[in-house]
Amino acid sequence: MIDAQAGVDRPRALPHRTLTAMTSTTAPRLTNLLGMSRQQMEAFFLSIGEKKFRAAQVMKWIHIEGCDNFAAMTNLSKALRTRLSEVAEVRGPGVVYEGSSSDGTRKWVLEVEDGSYVETVLIPADDGKRRTLCVSSQVGCSLDCSFCSTGKQGFQRNLTAAEIIGQVWVAQRSVGPRRDTANRPVTNVVMMGMGEPLMNYDNVVPAMKLMLDDDGYGLSKRRVTLSTSGVVPMIDKLGDEIDVSLAISLHAATDELRSELVPLNRKYNIRSLLDACHRYLAKCADTRMITIEYTLIKDVNDQQAHAEQLAALLKELPCKINLIPFNPFPHSGYEKPSRNQQMRFQQWLYDLGYTAHIRTTRGDDIDAACGQLVGRVKDRTRRHERYIQSIQIDAD
Ligand code: SF4
Repeated sequence: MIDAQAGVDRPRALPHRTLTAMTSTTAPRLTNLLGMSRQQMEAFFLSIGEKKFRAAQVMKWIHIEGCDNFAAMTNLSKALRTRLSEVAEVRGPGVVYEGSSSDGTRKWVLEVEDGSYVETVLIPADDGKRRTLCVSSQVGCSLDCSFCSTGKQGFQRNLTAAEIIGQVWVAQRSVGPRRDTANRPVTNVVMMGMGEPLMNYDNVVPAMKLMLDDDGYGLSKRRVTLSTSGVVPMIDKLGDEIDVSLAISLHAATDELRSELVPLNRKYNIRSLLDACHRYLAKCADTRMITIEYTLIKDVNDQQAHAEQLAALLKELPCKINLIPFNPFPHSGYEKPSRNQQMRFQQWLYDLGYTAHIRTTRGDDIDAACGQLVGRVKDRTRRHERYIQSIQIDAD
């Protein structure tokens, strides 16, 4: 299908790592250094009788140079390189698909430990000066937002910190190593791929710390964004630990409609979510705004009354609004509003004092929207099966 698209690279099916040796009961268990924060890496080196400063050296090799071969880490002694190869490894996800769209969007389908697939998308903007990587946090998602194709695939498991930062690592290795701060292969990261990142807090936060670390990916807090559908207690916890940029998947300005689109709203309603946003901003070290993500769905939330409700709701919150035209997937039951309707909605918000950005759909020719390329994951909740059955019942 992709080969037939004009301007699209032939997808590369790259050899992916065999897990047989790792899961063998006789094989020595190697410690994967990829997902370790600075503190964890320092503890690791102390545990093998080395000095703490080795952590910074090895982090630079892994995250700046994209190196997974201890033998190539030439500023380490030969004895240490040998020791590391006996007890540790640098193991990223396997690349099973890599594709480029005619608009420059690049997408990877990555195989993680249990054979599941996750997606990572690199989106260029501003004549290539900005390259934003959309990173997944879970295999599938448990929250079942009604407009989301990932939600229809059910939930399998949380990604580990190595599997999360491994997506940045794979993208950077593919684009090229970071030689200087002015020419980064990845300039921004949004935790906005498959999954709800705050439902995987313990792995997402260490991975984001590596994104910020100067010996990791060296990104500023403003350039790392966590997008949540509104897990209120974890927003508070996040603000206590790491003040990255925060985006809220709002999509509706009334609890009635939002509960339909984002079932989590039944647990944490809009008021409690906005209160958490205010508390989060108060904890940030500098002046920030919340990004409000609003998926525009035809005849569901794209009318003038909806724009007025949204403007009234947000009037106390320092925020910017991203309008995301719904990206149709089979049997979703929703449609994308016309371009004219998208622009009318934008204008209504503008007249009410808001500048809203309409996010252009990128990478259409490689199915770059969240969850569309991976297809079905192993679904312990059997949600995908139930979803298909309900479609068939409707069609009968
Ligand atoms: S929109 Fe996000 S939180 Fe909702 S089902 Fe999809 S991945 Fe999960």
